[in-house]
Amino acid sequence: MPSHLARVSVILLTLSGVAAGQAPATDQITARARRIHAEAIVLDTHVDTTGRLLDPAWNFLDRHEPPVRGQGGPGGRSAGNAVDLPRMREGGLDGVFFSIFIPGTVTGPQAVKRSLEQIDAVRSLTERHPDQIALATTAAEVRAAHEAGRAIALMGMEGGHMIDDSLAVLRGYARLGVRYLTLTHSEPTSWADSSGREPTHGGLTPFGRDVVRELNRLGLMVDISHVSDETFWNAIEVSRAPLLASHSSCRAISGHPRNLTDEMIKALAAKGGVLQINYLDQYLDHDLYLAQRKRQEELAPLRKELEAKYPGPDNATKRMQELRAAMAALPPLPRPSWEKIVEHIDHAVKLVGDAHVGLGSDFDGASMPVGMEDATQVPKITEALLRKGYTERQVRNILGENLLRLMERVEAVARELRAETAAARPGGV
Ligand SMILES: [Zn+2]
Repeated sequence: MPSHLARVSVILLTLSGVAAGQAPATDQITARARRIHAEAIVLDTHVDTTGRLLDPAWNFLDRHEPPVRGQGGPGGRSAGNAVDLPRMREGGLDGVFFSIFIPGTVTGPQAVKRSLEQIDAVRSLTERHPDQIALATTAAEVRAAHEAGRAIALMGMEGGHMIDDSLAVLRGYARLGVRYLTLTHSEPTSWADSSGREPTHGGLTPFGRDVVRELNRLGLMVDISHVSDETFWNAIEVSRAPLLASHSSCRAISGHPRNLTDEMIKALAAKGGVLQINYLDQYLDHDLYLAQRKRQEELAPLRKELEAKYPGPDNATKRMQELRAAMAALPPLPRPSWEKIVEHIDHAVKLVGDAHVGLGSDFDGASMPVGMEDATQVPKITEALLRKGYTERQVRNILGENLLRLMERVEAVARELRAETAAARPGGV
């Protein structure tokens, strides 16, 4: 159903309930949440559904089941998944940034080839179904597609290793519609440190700083999720445009180094940036983070053994499969409830206000908290925020308006920088 029709039917259902006098005060909040959620532009800056698009047997327009914990399919991948078009519609999730991602251990021409294949998969999806889902590369295109009742596909690239140390390759990705670059994934690049490893560069190298400047000039968001703290502070200093944390949460609540400290969140916001809260269970819950860390320490000998048995980057999948199998055999750790997401949003809002916080789920790339298994569950967040006393404007900001404002600002900075370059070169070279 086109989303405007879906919106009208949701509103009608809601009104009929109220008219029949069946709605006590709490149900009025539910009804208000449904209306606001249906009308707002709801965006998610990080979903890892892209890999599925490469599978010809898997159709984004079909409805699938959410992942079943402990039931890994081939390659350790769960049988279900979290995002497809019918469930985006049901969950009022209007637009997602499909993550263009390959592991940080894959580099060089192979990394570029696989990145281009993923970009092609996203673009092909929107070319095959232009009436259903539109590719957007600007905030204005997001608003227009929403107005037209289409779902919205955007692209973000998760890891600087995919540019193969080439600004020309980066410009190629930009021309194809990629709209943010996460400076690193869990491995360092040759020019930036990651939060996933011990630092080797002390943040950004001179070339790393050039990458940030080029992103500004191209109008791509500089994404500091995954990077080391030093890389974050360097990027804040070098970037002329405000920054994006596409999928990170608050370190004050869960101490995982993938999360941002309060100082970092304040600096991000002071520059006009946005923190998009990640739903990954151990980024939300400190106890789970500690338990997982302990488990990783216990698995270290097995990791070493697997590296000896299957050496080299080409065997990464094999190592991962065996490791996942070993992990699946261990007793499950207690997982937090989806309400932790709201706790992180509220923490960040109390720290820097509602204009700098949004949603970056990590759906289809991470273990989700209980009750947030797929895109259909997203409206719970809207309702929970309203119950906390958030206003409609605040909720709309968090659901998508903050991100759109960030995109607009990044686009404006790119125009300014290009105008300055043109003015400095009157010959027009
Ligand atoms: Zn990630």
